[in-house]
Amino acid sequence: MGVSQVEFYGHVRQYHNLKNEIDQAIHEVLESGSYVQGPRLKQFEQELAHYANLKESVGLNSGTDALVLVLVALGVGPGDEVITTSNTFFATAEAIWLAGATAVFVDIDPDTCNIDPKLVKAAITPRTKAIIPVHLYGQSAEMRALDKIAKAHSLYVIEDCAQALGARGDDFEFGELSNAVCTSFIIQKNLGCFGDGGAVITNDSGLATEIRKLRNHGSLERSHHSMGYNSRLDEIHAAVLSVKLKHLDEWSELRRERAKQYDSGLVGTSLKLPTVRPGFRHVFHLYVVETEDRDQLQAYLKSEGIIAQTHYPIAIHQQEGYPWGRSARISGSLEHTERSAARVLSLPMYPELTAEETDTVIEAIRSWEKSRNVAAGSAAR
Ligand SMILES: *Cc1c(COP(=O)(O)O)cnc(C)c1O
Repeated sequence: MGVSQVEFYGHVRQYHNLKNEIDQAIHEVLESGSYVQGPRLKQFEQELAHYANLKESVGLNSGTDALVLVLVALGVGPGDEVITTSNTFFATAEAIWLAGATAVFVDIDPDTCNIDPKLVKAAITPRTKAIIPVHLYGQSAEMRALDKIAKAHSLYVIEDCAQALGARGDDFEFGELSNAVCTSFIIQKNLGCFGDGGAVITNDSGLATEIRKLRNHGSLERSHHSMGYNSRLDEIHAAVLSVKLKHLDEWSELRRERAKQYDSGLVGTSLKLPTVRPGFRHVFHLYVVETEDRDQLQAYLKSEGIIAQTHYPIAIHQQEGYPWGRSARISGSLEHTERSAARVLSLPMYPELTAEETDTVIEAIRSWEKSRNVAAGSAAR
């Protein structure tokens, strides 16, 4: 197989752009002899908290663990219900299940693909303990509306911010209207390391301490206060993330520029383009369009050497692997979630994507559309 014209990710490009700094940071860790729970982790945690404008951050093994450990630390477990969406990466629901609680799925707002706050209220029962909104594709969920519901019903709010570090709402920052923000540092995310990593960011120092304990076998100093997990962000990745965090805002701007270019290049086609809520700062983890002929478009782009992917083609409640029964239930209909799963297509989107490559994608989509219209026209005759 030849090299694709437009790749889906720019990981190696990003590494090459920062090669000296990253190599140096890794080298320093190797020479330091301190590889886990050392000074680089502490430093990165401070930098991340500062970036988020929140009091504390705790570096962990993964974004999945971030969600699990927050749930466990807040005492959400067996018998409790957690409201979220089915239109997300599997880990969101998996975390609820791993904590022993029951996931309750409500439908999404079809415009943004984020949780529809209007449906949350109807899903609340006496067992409801928390809401996990997912800031899907890089756009904040409607935290203001969710906060109101959570306050009225004394629920925790845990932000799944794996895709949206740096996003903002119209009148709120992330972390401002929740108990904790969970994020992931796998390379595909907007801030990524060279393996697994995640973090919890929060203004609640007690919660941060509890999670620090849980990530290290229930131990803060020497003794073990409880059972815990082994879920630490290692020094090499903390050092790499410190280098990269300085570039996150500039990368978000580049993503937004490419998104603008897609928007203006694809306007007037039959595709549904991303909806950005007025005043929201979308950081375009993914640029997702929708079409009934998704599979056809994806195959056409592939034939043109352009890689497009699907996030997510199978909703969680339709996955074979989700443990039903006590572990999950559906509130209302999930028609928008199911419709979106069948229609979404993610176009190449990363800070290192060039304007020329973006144009190549736009032109390919336009010629696909033209050939379809010609075919439809001749069929009509
Ligand atoms: C990536 C992701 C996660 C899980 O993060 P990991 O670091 O891979 O464990 C959770 N939720 C969402 C929405 C994600 O995109």
